Amino acid sequence: MTSAAESTYAIGVDLGGTKIETALVNAEGDIAEKQRTPTEAKQGPDHVVEVIVSTVTAHYLRDARRAVSAIGVGVAGQVDPETGIVRRAPNLDWRDFPIRERLETALGLPVTVINDVQAITYGECRRGVGRGTKNLVCLFAGTGVGGGVVIGGELLRGTSGNAGEFGHMTIERDGLPCTCGNRGCLETFVGGWAIAQRARTRVAAEPAQGATLLRLAGGKPEGISAALVGQAAAQGDALARALVEETGTALGVGLAAIANALNPELLILGGGVVEGLPGLVEIAERELGRRALAAALQPLKVVRSKLGADAGVIGSALFAHETARKRGAQGTAP
Ligand SMILES: [Zn+2]
Repeated sequence: MTSAAESTYAIGVDLGGTKIETALVNAEGDIAEKQRTPTEAKQGPDHVVEVIVSTVTAHYLRDARRAVSAIGVGVAGQVDPETGIVRRAPNLDWRDFPIRERLETALGLPVTVINDVQAITYGECRRGVGRGTKNLVCLFAGTGVGGGVVIGGELLRGTSGNAGEFGHMTIERDGLPCTCGNRGCLETFVGGWAIAQRARTRVAAEPAQGATLLRLAGGKPEGISAALVGQAAAQGDALARALVEETGTALGVGLAAIANALNPELLILGGGVVEGLPGLVEIAERELGRRALAAALQPLKVVRSKLGADAGVIGSALFAHETARKRGAQGTAP
């Protein structure tokens, strides 16, 4: 038996600071077609809306046989769950932009807007490594650190849409300043920008310890990135290895807090820092095991993300599908 929702597609949009990924996705989470276009964020939000509208119209709405029920957008920023207004998106330089309303007006389809890591989380839950799991947490560490939570099979959005912002949990009370204005956030240890910053400071103080790292950076401390820290650690650089140990330990401290607070079955880790720093996940798991409550650890598994770069478009499309289905069910209820 095939319901109306299962025979239709949703369009997933992953809106980042440099590129926009879009995909036509069926109710099972299979991608039928996908596109990538530059965001050109400098040209302003009206231009970005125009890019999305023209891509969607040209590629996904041209074939009348393929019924599209909804559009889901994942944005790297804070999204108001009620209005679909992007409150703050530093990578796009947006503040209070009503993207949902703008896209619904232009495309004539229902639009849902969520945070980009929430979209990844939903994608991993429905289609990826979390398939069949009711309670899970995702933590993605790239330049910044984002997260998402699924409880009872439902994506947790929070009152203002920022449930799962684990990057800004305080790990060290008087630690380094964070991009959010606080000090000692998890991101000040695990964010790519913070790893690079720590490495530059240490190399300046102990150049002999970080000789390999400095060489990989062409002899220039300012050329050090988190990716180079990972490469140098893999080559045995003492300073880079110490940084990986410190980063993994801080990550484990954060994971223990998450495990105790939310008691998930699955902790899914992903992002460039997780992929690029050798041994990071194992160090974090060791620290998690030392700190979390036994009752929180007993059912818990730590795994790596599975869907890769497609997680965002799959998750935002499936979330849009699900939202449209629920609205339809409410509309036909007696
Ligand atoms: Zn912070």
